[in-house]
Amino acid sequence: MLQGKIAIVTGSTSGIGLGIATALAAEGCDIMLNGFGDPAAIAALAKKLGDDNKVRVAYSPADMSKPADIRDMVAMAVEQLGGVDILVNNAGIQHVAPVVDFPEGRWDAVIAINLSAAFHGAKAALPHMTRKGWGRIINIASAHGLVASGEKAAYVTAKHGLVGLTKVIAIETANAGVTCNAICPGWVLTDLVKKQIEARAAAQGIPYQQAHDDLLREKQPMLQYTTPEKIGALAVFLCGEAASTMTGAALSIDGGWVAQ
Ligand code: NAD
Repeated sequence: MLQGKIAIVTGSTSGIGLGIATALAAEGCDIMLNGFGDPAAIAALAKKLGDDNKVRVAYSPADMSKPADIRDMVAMAVEQLGGVDILVNNAGIQHVAPVVDFPEGRWDAVIAINLSAAFHGAKAALPHMTRKGWGRIINIASAHGLVASGEKAAYVTAKHGLVGLTKVIAIETANAGVTCNAICPGWVLTDLVKKQIEARAAAQGIPYQQAHDDLLREKQPMLQYTTPEKIGALAVFLCGEAASTMTGAALSIDGGWVAQ
């Protein structure tokens, strides 16, 4: 159904982004991968994704903290793949500390990568979508885009901002064949969360498995991590015809976290 659509997925060398890129490729989308990692491993990943799904896969090493890199990534998708139909703003980082101890450089980096990158990406990609009269922007926000937790000032601020940006883009593109929605996951067991579990286990002197279970119990009524595959399936749904009048929404996939 998405055969021939061209999708950029930022931060798709691991975790949720890779789950979304894999799901979109399985639907026939050509993919622009992005993110950090070992170049040989990324090349192997791109080849496998392309071979498995009979789609074209390109890779941009753009650093999402750099607006010029983001513009180059969009230009590269246009040059190498022929356009941009779907933009998934997924790349993200975390830093955990109380406001009084929060390093200023970490604040700036989280805001740049988790929030400003989505603005720069949308600004560069939207003209290609509106010209064709079809486009999808999906912003990977978080339960932390809807509610807060202590010690995550930059992350919570960026994700709330991303939900706001989603609504503005949705309004501006409402009659242009473009939709813009946010996905708000609860806990997903990726590298980003494994680091938090390890830090928690070390700080409390408890085994990894206990910290893993405690993290869930503290926030989610459902004691299960969501998977990148489930978020990929939701992204595919948002790109489909059934979701063509869905725009400006913030969709929770969080085991009941924000229902409380
Ligand atoms: P992850 O650490 O597994 O993946 C992050 C990806 O972003 C990687 O590909 C990494 O290389 C890339 N990245 C990091 N900094 C970058 C930069 N400056 N430029 C380009 N790429 C960069 O993390 P994840 O858990 O898959 O997170 C993906 C998104 O999902 C993030 O926006 C995160 O906030 C969000 N999210 C995650 C969870 C969770 O529980 N894991 C929950 C809610 C929201």
